[in-house]
Amino acid sequence: MTVWNDCQCMGEEATKTIQTRLHVASGKRSWLHDARLASREIFNDTIRLTQQGYTRTEIQEAVDRDDFLRNNKCAVVGKALQTWDSYQSLLDWWHEQHDPDGGKPTPPSTDTSGAYPLVMAHTEGYRLTVDDDTNRVQVRISPKPYKKVKGNLRGEQDAMDKLRDAITSDGVDVGQAELLYRDGVYYLHVTVTREFDVPDPDNSDTLVGMDINERTVALTALDRETMRTKGTLVLDYGRVKQERQRYHTITKRCQEHGKTSIHRKLGDKEERFTEWVLHRLSRAVVEFADQFSNPVIVFEEMSGIREEIKYGSYMNRRLHKLPFHTFETFVSYKATWREIPTDTVDSYYNSKTCSCCGERGYRQGRRFRCPNDECDVMQDHADRNASVNIAWREKAKLDGNESDYRTHKTQPQVRLVRLSGSGRVSRPTSSRSLAEQGVLAHS
Ligand SMILES: [Zn+2]
Repeated sequence: MTVWNDCQCMGEEATKTIQTRLHVASGKRSWLHDARLASREIFNDTIRLTQQGYTRTEIQEAVDRDDFLRNNKCAVVGKALQTWDSYQSLLDWWHEQHDPDGGKPTPPSTDTSGAYPLVMAHTEGYRLTVDDDTNRVQVRISPKPYKKVKGNLRGEQDAMDKLRDAITSDGVDVGQAELLYRDGVYYLHVTVTREFDVPDPDNSDTLVGMDINERTVALTALDRETMRTKGTLVLDYGRVKQERQRYHTITKRCQEHGKTSIHRKLGDKEERFTEWVLHRLSRAVVEFADQFSNPVIVFEEMSGIREEIKYGSYMNRRLHKLPFHTFETFVSYKATWREIPTDTVDSYYNSKTCSCCGERGYRQGRRFRCPNDECDVMQDHADRNASVNIAWREKAKLDGNESDYRTHKTQPQVRLVRLSGSGRVSRPTSSRSLAEQGVLAHS
């Protein structure tokens, strides 16, 4: 995968996973099941062997088996090793923290039984084609040597269009796919890689500062030329967090009672839920930025882990430990897909400095108060104030003009949007309409 943090270059690559349901037309479903069980054994063996110091090549040889396609085996080993690497990076990061939040990362388990996603390379383990007459995406999977399962894929229209585009055009590559199973349905998650022309942050007209904390994501879009505010939005996800906490507590309680199967189920649910929240929030951030002319999304610089972008499912399971980093990764990712650049600025006192006059102020609950008598700002929403500072720092960075400091402008009323945790019960508002609420009418 590409690391695009602070990468000023053009033509960045981004990979996206397209989730589809598999409808089997011919071949046996039990072959798919068998292959997923074999994947688990290969995964467990790979983790065990890599812990013992075996090389990739040695592992490939050791886990070889007759009932499994050699190419699929390589793909599963690759995913297992990537999981292991993610764990190692996370562990390194954890060791570097002065005050580590949460428990020490645990290595991927090697004694889990049951199924594991069947990982396949395109044109080897599986092949996709588009039917000219029906426009359906057809799939042929090789779960075992000489055994083929054929069918078609279905999913959201937008996702399926992207997939068709990837299969039929030269600019997009179809990569690995993973076969999963849940509640009687087979899913095929297909990765597609595209190259994007992401403009340099220096070409931006709109600076979108993003401040994130445990409860809110605050966004402010400043016009680079005039420093006028084009939009300002605070997404409050506090309720969602409570919900996540609740899952966590239930999970823990079950763990204490040794109910591992329930624990696993709830753990999965929590993981999917957290991922849903991060995806939803990050989508809203990118939608917000996308409404303005030539935007750049700006984050505060945090400890080095942002460079680590290749966290797979293992990372997702650990989201509650590192949500901010993961969140930024999600935002960068979605931004790249829209050809919106991202950039980082110093995190130096952004939350304690008045965005209008530059004086050091203080927080009182969710308010920021400026002690400067001559300043027009008496108080502001603290998180929004921080997001203005982040946008301002980006201007100073791009234009190299630290002396013309601060915006010298008071900010408009904050638009606060509460993200509800019950997104799966009632139909959630679209990310776009969430984002539109932050755009100022007069802009
Ligand atoms: Zn002030």
